[in-house]
Amino acid sequence: MARYIFVTGGVVSSLGKGLSSASLAYLLKSQGYKVRVRKMDPYLNVDPGTMSPFQHGEVFVTDDGAETDLDLGHYERFTNISAKKSDNITTGKIYSDIIKKERKGKYLGKTVQVIPHVTDRIKEFIKGDITNEDFVICEIGGTVGDIESLPFVEAIRQFSNEVGKSKSLFIHLTLVPFLKSSDEIKTKPTQHSVKELRSLGIQPDIVVCRSQKSIPLDQRKKISLFCNVSIENVIETVDVRTIYEAPISFYNEKLDKQVLKYFKLKPRKKVNLQPWKKITRSVLDTKKIVNIAIIGKYVNLKDAYKSLDEALIHGGIANSIKVNLVRIESDNLKANQINKILKNISGILIPGGFGKRGTEGKISAINYARRNKIPFLGICFGMQMAVVEFARNSLKIKKAGSSELDKKCYPVIGLLNEWNKNGKLIKGTNKDLGGTMRLGIYEAKLRHNSLIQSIYKSKTIFERHRHRYEVNNNLKNKFENKGMIFSGMSPDDKLPEIIELKNHPWFIGVQFHPEFKSRPLTPHPLFSSFIKAAKSHR
Ligand code: GLN
Repeated sequence: MARYIFVTGGVVSSLGKGLSSASLAYLLKSQGYKVRVRKMDPYLNVDPGTMSPFQHGEVFVTDDGAETDLDLGHYERFTNISAKKSDNITTGKIYSDIIKKERKGKYLGKTVQVIPHVTDRIKEFIKGDITNEDFVICEIGGTVGDIESLPFVEAIRQFSNEVGKSKSLFIHLTLVPFLKSSDEIKTKPTQHSVKELRSLGIQPDIVVCRSQKSIPLDQRKKISLFCNVSIENVIETVDVRTIYEAPISFYNEKLDKQVLKYFKLKPRKKVNLQPWKKITRSVLDTKKIVNIAIIGKYVNLKDAYKSLDEALIHGGIANSIKVNLVRIESDNLKANQINKILKNISGILIPGGFGKRGTEGKISAINYARRNKIPFLGICFGMQMAVVEFARNSLKIKKAGSSELDKKCYPVIGLLNEWNKNGKLIKGTNKDLGGTMRLGIYEAKLRHNSLIQSIYKSKTIFERHRHRYEVNNNLKNKFENKGMIFSGMSPDDKLPEIIELKNHPWFIGVQFHPEFKSRPLTPHPLFSSFIKAAKSHR
């Protein structure tokens, strides 16, 4: 039977619970154990798919087409295990399932209540879709003490009681602030947070203390005493210089060792930290810099393009160069200032996006990249806008546009409601906004002798999608005659998946999101190639 590790957070949010869970998962996996990492989100949205990136950061998409919390991206990048739909749940999803069941009369006249019905549904999620995993790490979003997260805390308490202490472990992550004025490390917030957790019936087994400075023994003792955990189980996590150092730092602090000791287990093989040491060194030591512009609508929020930022950095690691991400708000990009704004930029990237705001700025930047032969990568909406730009300025279809943005345009990008997946038609719709797009992994065929084929070194690829609109395939010949090649197509030849320019050193648009599949230890070929092109353009 699997062992369950529950990770809660206290004091403040954004302490790096996701990164801690991901690092622990890597350490356990590297020692020969099979691991799954899951996230429970206390908000009322059914999934984060309809949430603005300003509110919640990026929406991470899994192979099987779930729109999930961005922490699942951390888990995948650190463990190289593809997350599934069954790895993320929200309060909204739980309530929507329960209410559906209630309407069908499935509760046989009972009063439907938070305890036991909501907590039962949470427990079902925790143990659902598990086969032979040794460890299931479940992170609980939010901060202990929030009203929203109460049912989750109650459910994990019940769960642990049911499976027993030998099969369940509680890790609580807190903040141990350093007060500059008094030059002191403060343990009180941690004491209070653990007290709060204990008042909900949970005694943490391990307390992980996030701190700016190393925590002296005296303070550790204090935490141990007041929080009722052994001193070895007070683990510090001091701010790392790069996130790739996190697994090394948790190993040095013996987090994995204490977890294995708790479960009376021994490592099945020796942990391998070499890859993390190598990329940490590479990230910290590299002096050469390449400036990449990300031109989008959500650039002011750091987490809005999390996987993309990561994938670009991975591309830099592959090319031994530091990628400086220059975030440019597309709304502010006026055609007559583009020269100045993009002067020191060696590669231009337009990420995915929705809606009209900022599109003309993106189109101007694409035009600039195309004419000045600057390496360009358009992702999803970025590809669509590259097609619009080419149609307007090369094919001279002045009214070319996307039917998403302008119902009266000449739709070179149009709405499609059906997709073929493995011979089966999948239906999308734009009536409901949540979960109704072309989502998850789809195959694409690559054209022989194309740039894209030389990058992937493969005839077919599988990448993750998240969009409702498609490039209009009826104009393919016109585009190709003018030099924009549809070099990747869906297997049934109906949907253009990749475009590239013949007379340009590196200009590629992809309808999918390659960033979701890039890993620090195995950078995605498309990003490695893009950064390589930008590096030689410097
Ligand atoms: N808004 C576009 C569509 O739905 C692009 C989506 C995206 O970039 N992820 O097709």
